Amino acid sequence: MSDSQLRVIWIYPDLLSTYGDQGNVLVLERRARQRGLDVARIDVRSDQPIPTSGDIYLVGGGEDRPQRLAAERLRRDGGLYRAVGNGAIVFSVCAGYQILGHEFINDLGQREPGLGLLDVVSARGEGTRCVGDVLGDIDPRLGLPPLTGFENHQGVTHLGPTARPLARVRFGNGNGTGDGTEGAYNDTVFGTYMHGPVLARNPQIADLLLKLALDVNALPPTDDRWYEALRDERITAAQQPA
Ligand code: GLN
Repeated sequence: MSDSQLRVIWIYPDLLSTYGDQGNVLVLERRARQRGLDVARIDVRSDQPIPTSGDIYLVGGGEDRPQRLAAERLRRDGGLYRAVGNGAIVFSVCAGYQILGHEFINDLGQREPGLGLLDVVSARGEGTRCVGDVLGDIDPRLGLPPLTGFENHQGVTHLGPTARPLARVRFGNGNGTGDGTEGAYNDTVFGTYMHGPVLARNPQIADLLLKLALDVNALPPTDDRWYEALRDERITAAQQPA
């Protein structure tokens, strides 16, 4: 963090906000304020330059055409590359996750270059669309409780050698390649297929992002009984037959 204010940048709400992912910004802001942090939320529309001095960048999901437009503009802008070069944290969901990889298949059926910030490549899944509740175990290195979320995607994502799976699914598809992985991360860049919104369902991930941004090992505790009840409910729901 460059100064005492935490800067949370929400990228392209006009293109990548169709699945309730705004909730991720709200949860991050709230959990930072609960810890007494001074937070600035900056919404960056797709006709605006990406500020490079942010601490945490959020990129949401979207439909296929807005996803292509967002990828074009992010490549042209270049600000997100520079921010990651400055040590920023990036958390991306679904279409945003695919955009952060090397390439994905766009709405025209063509290979669209991504930003290459994550070592993943997304293809179009040949099977039925992946839709439904997901339950997974987060990479033990991150020391977090189980991941729950809701997925809705046609793309499937293959991880390269420098991307670690964010989680291993117990239920649901996740990356959809049949290897049981869900999402990916490297040092400061995270991707997941989980909507939900994912940070409302998994506040432990919001806290992980805050800790990385603040460069601390722990945060003051918060009352998470509501979140825990929601997680228990979703874990039960995911285990019930459709
Ligand atoms: N259009 C992408 C896909 O279907 C991403 C969808 C999403 O963001 N939910 O794979």
